[in-house]
Amino acid sequence: MGVLCSVIRFENLHELKRLCHWGPIIALSVIAICSTMAMIDTVLWYWPLDTTGGSVNFIMLINWTVMILYNYFNAMFVGPGYVPMGWKPETSQDCMYLQYCKVCQSYKTPRSHHCRKCNRCVMKMDHHCPWINNCCGYQNHASFTLFLLLAPLGCIHASFIFVMTMYTQLYNRISFGWSSVRIDMSAAKRDPSPIIPFGLSAFAASLFALGLALGTTIAVGMLFIIQMKVILRNKTSIESWIEEKAKDRNQYYRTGEIFIFPYDMGSKWKNFKQVFTWSGFPEGDGLDWPVREGCHRYSLTVEQLKQKADKRVRSVRYRAIADYSGACCPLTKGLKTFFTTPCTEEPRIALRKGDVILATRGLKLVSTHPLECLKAGGVNLWALIHLSLFQILDVWRQTL
Ligand SMILES: [Zn+2]
Ligand SMILES: [Zn+2]
Repeated sequence: MGVLCSVIRFENLHELKRLCHWGPIIALSVIAICSTMAMIDTVLWYWPLDTTGGSVNFIMLINWTVMILYNYFNAMFVGPGYVPMGWKPETSQDCMYLQYCKVCQSYKTPRSHHCRKCNRCVMKMDHHCPWINNCCGYQNHASFTLFLLLAPLGCIHASFIFVMTMYTQLYNRISFGWSSVRIDMSAAKRDPSPIIPFGLSAFAASLFALGLALGTTIAVGMLFIIQMKVILRNKTSIESWIEEKAKDRNQYYRTGEIFIFPYDMGSKWKNFKQVFTWSGFPEGDGLDWPVREGCHRYSLTVEQLKQKADKRVRSVRYRAIADYSGACCPLTKGLKTFFTTPCTEEPRIALRKGDVILATRGLKLVSTHPLECLKAGGVNLWALIHLSLFQILDVWRQTL
């Protein structure tokens, strides 16, 4: 609770509702199971507290748990930081370089993106993370990444405890049962027979916790490596994607332009310091970003505008042939539609008969010739629902 209080300011208390989501529930359960089992195994069976080593080991385990939870709750409750509602650049001429967000009624600052789940424009948005049920962005990039580092380290320590507990205890048992000679690896150091016997349920629980810990180590460890690669170039995951698309666009249209990512400070250490600081607060205000020599303050946003225009040109029109309420699994549209709706948390757009949508990516359907689609008067509703689910980020809706 102490950890929670230090992180949550009073006005942030409404943020507690973020805990009510499958992501935090599963993540916190895994943390609870692994750390509790590691402590129980340590104290009862592997390395009791009556030795200095045992005490240090136990304190280390508590330390991991506290640091993991601290960074986890920081990432969740401090949040990424949002672009102020109604924000516009100081000089009105600069508006032409920026995208406008209709929902937030503000211009999008460089590096910001609108998150549909948070329903706000997020400063230096990296991605929306279901495990913290919040976006990862400007303010919580460091605590999020620290969590990604600490969770595997804690899990490796816990895994070591689980393996050693099971090995020591099983080895003792097997020696007891199969031969009358008992070999204990460390008989000189401690009493091999614990007060509470290491039963089948303790073995099962340790094995289960070991599985969780190893799974977390691999999955979260990989995320950490991906995040660090991006941070050392002073990028976000979204910006890596934009850079890829910039290369494709320049190649496709043979523009001869070379897109230079403007926020790379030129050295890994400088880029690192943009995210990680001693104060815990990242550099700058999250709205204005220093750019490298030869780059314009709005190099990236201008590239985004070009990509958006390009997308409009390449989009395909579809006309809805029936109403769709935007329901998750529509009951009235037949069995095929009901059972094959995509597994995604993306919000769905409701459609009315006659609506025209412009789709730009996803289904093979999109590659159909646009004129043919319009001639046919639309596509079947099943395909349209898939479109309205998948392409939501890239769909411009028009009503004729
Ligand atoms: Zn917005
Ligand atoms: Zn979000």
